[in-house]
Amino acid sequence: MTQTRLHFIAAGDRARQLFAAMERSFEDDGFPLAILEIDETADRHELSVYTPTPEADAAKIRDLFGHGETYEVEYEALPDIDWVAKSLEGLPPVRAGRYLVHGSHDRQARKISDIAIEIDAGQAFGTGHHETTAGCLNAIASVAKRVELRNVLDLGTGSAVLAIALAKTMPVKVLATDIDPIATLVANSNIRLNGVTRQVSALTANGFNASVVSACAPFDLIIANVLAGPLMKLAPAMTRHTKPGGTIILSGILARQRWPVIAAYANQRFKHVATTWSGEWVTIQLKR
Ligand code: SAH
Repeated sequence: MTQTRLHFIAAGDRARQLFAAMERSFEDDGFPLAILEIDETADRHELSVYTPTPEADAAKIRDLFGHGETYEVEYEALPDIDWVAKSLEGLPPVRAGRYLVHGSHDRQARKISDIAIEIDAGQAFGTGHHETTAGCLNAIASVAKRVELRNVLDLGTGSAVLAIALAKTMPVKVLATDIDPIATLVANSNIRLNGVTRQVSALTANGFNASVVSACAPFDLIIANVLAGPLMKLAPAMTRHTKPGGTIILSGILARQRWPVIAAYANQRFKHVATTWSGEWVTIQLKR
């Protein structure tokens, strides 16, 4: 299915209001939304919706604008599944600590000591090539060394790479969720491909808003490689769903966004354990 990203730029509280209005307006469609800070000083944000029906939805967005507001809604055509798969075919395997994330064409790159995760290049995010995925894999390795995990939530699972990594590291149960139903399909196929169906189940859910997620809580580890904005919003729910003494790993955070994220979680009594850097991104470990 061809997807288009519709996006526009707004500033300050108006940007946040318009994002909230978009959340309401697209709630029934379940389309992924994003708000990304593009200029911290000017408090300017880019708001996006990913949609298969761009014309109708651009009109829907314009309807949210107030009188005299002239934000320009732009279109970005996103490549089809097959195109993405093709472009990823040539990507080399990625190492992060003991983990090797590879495509089916690179099985021979596995060493005996590796925890190998095979990811079919699909449309979902998470081939290990992004710094945030590698940051999370390293954080998982460090947590796994310290504590025995039983019950984990991988929120924003994408390709399920992190959930699979955990399942291959220890006998843990992982609930893998994503807001994007296409990601859930890709996640399920990778879970089968890696033979971890007994340990990992994937389902579509927005944040903690699904009864299955509440039913499986509290978790002794939650990993969320989403983005700074959504992570800050999720902070109160994150406390409610984490066991006392439990750990959370947050990523998808630009280095300059780390303090507001840490502050939002400190407000929920999470203690900072470690921040690791990869390029301009950070991965933050906190403890409840
Ligand atoms: N965990 C993978 C993918 C990270 S990309 C990795 O580390 O490589 C972020 C994923 O989070 C995307 O697949 C996106 O669809 C999902 N996502 C974004 N907001 C979400 C939300 N509120 N609830 C659940 N998933 C969300």
